Amino acid sequence: MSLLKLAKWARLKSPWILHVNTGACNSCDIEVLAALTPRFDVERFGAILKPSPRHADILIVTGALTRQAVERVKRVYEQTPDPKFVIAVGACALSGGVFQGCYGVLSGVDKVMPVDVYVPGCPPRPDAIIHGVIKLIEKVSKSG
Ligand code: SF4
Repeated sequence: MSLLKLAKWARLKSPWILHVNTGACNSCDIEVLAALTPRFDVERFGAILKPSPRHADILIVTGALTRQAVERVKRVYEQTPDPKFVIAVGACALSGGVFQGCYGVLSGVDKVMPVDVYVPGCPPRPDAIIHGVIKLIEKVSKSG
């Protein structure tokens, strides 16, 4: 097995997650926490929450992209080592949701970073968030 294949295998078996809130109302965040904790238990797929972008493979982003958060979010994305992946969770992260058109809200997070998987809902259930993680793992495993 080449080193690259070994790294890809390890990444698929232990995708480390950083949760980023760009301006969510906190309901999406509570669902993300539920997905990460034992009742829904995303850890059975090897995924684990990490406190630093430098240790993360996947950014789970919640909330509409606020003007106040733009620079911080860009910095977090740049600090995450390649290859990195983004899952947008909730209607706000997808498009601004109920905050669309507000003076302090730009839109969804794909305005500042490429998004690999979109999980709709307001808020989405923990099962849907876990489904998003699985879809991302499948997508990465099929890529070259
Ligand atoms: S999608 Fe709904 S639950 Fe999630 S941050 Fe926006 S308003 Fe809150």
